This record gives sequence, C-alpha cells and structure tokens, in this order.
Amino acid sequence: VSSVSFFTSLNMERTYIMVKPDGVERGLVGEIIKRFENRGYQLLALQLLTPTKEHLEQHYADLKAKPFFPGLIQYMLSGPVVGMVWAGKDAVKTGRKMLGETNPLASAPGTIRGDYCIEVGRNICHGSDSVESAEKEIALWFPQGVADYQRNKSLTQLIYEN
Ligand code: UDP
Ligand code: MG
Repeated sequence: VSSVSFFTSLNMERTYIMVKPDGVERGLVGEIIKRFENRGYQLLALQLLTPTKEHLEQHYADLKAKPFFPGLIQYMLSGPVVGMVWAGKDAVKTGRKMLGETNPLASAPGTIRGDYCIEVGRNICHGSDSVESAEKEIALWFPQGVADYQRNKSLTQLIYEN
C-alpha cells in the first residue's frame, strides 16, 4: 500500500509543529522533539530556517487584524525557527494538548508551554489548530513536500492496535 492510503485508512493526521525563536535560542528544540517522539508520533519533516516577514505574515494571516500582530511578527523574526511535521492518529488535536494553552500561565504543568514558558508573546512553540490549517501550513513551510514513508510494521503494532 502507498503511504497515502496507509494514512487515510488508519485515520492518520499530519500536524505542523514549529519551535519559535525563543524556544530555539533557549535550547528547547530537542525537548520538544522528544515529546512527540516519545508519544509515538512519526517525524515526516524537520528544518531550521530564518523565515521572511512575508512568510510569517502568511503563516499568521488569520491574525492580521489583531492588535498583537505586529509584535507577534517581530517576535517570530527574532531568530531562526525549527519547523517539523509529525504524523499519527489524532496528531492535530493531541499536538495542541501537548502544547498547552495559548497563554502559558493557563497551561497545565506537563504540557510544553506549561513546563517551559510564562508569557503569551514568548510561548516557544506553534502547533496547527485544525487538520485544514495543518495541511495549509505544511504546504507553506515545506513547498518541496515532506517525507512519505511507512514505519516498521512491528513498531507500528507496538503503538497502534491495528
Ligand atoms: N499571541 C499574542 N498575544 C495574544 C494572543 C496570541 O502574542 O493575545 C501570540 C502567541 O505567540 C500565539 C500566537 O500569537 O502563540 C498565535 O496566536 P493563536 O491564537 O493562533 O495561538 P496558538 O494557536 O499559538 O495557541
Ligand atoms: Mg494558532
């Protein structure tokens, strides 16, 4: 079977997770990767890059009218980011749960934001909020496409019932 049918048949999702400049600067990239790996999600793409203002404005296009938008773009331009695509069952919603709330102070301990940050404008990590926006974000950040491979069958059976 091709990976496309593998993902769709098992109701697999892909999500875009991005360590923001403060997370990269603070050396939290490995910690964030580790949580998704440990959970059982599959890494399909990984890149460090310094995005342009236009790229970030496109990524956050839905927030353009918000008063915090200029500050958000300035924050996101403060250094390189690490973008990745993680795949698996319910990856979008579970990824958001693993991140915590938008406001780190409202995020439960045990979540990424609840463990590593304090302020909304320095919340170290992005995660897609729906399957639709995940696919849009993956296309925006990885126009060259992402990996499409099936993991070892016995590994898959240790993580999924079928
Ligand atoms: N943000 C902010 N002030 C706010 C709300 C959001 O600075 O009042 C920033 C914050 O970094 C957040 C990003 O804008 O992560 C995108 O906002 P969104 O509502 O999409 O939150 P997220 O999906 O990241 O939890
Ligand atoms: Mg969002």
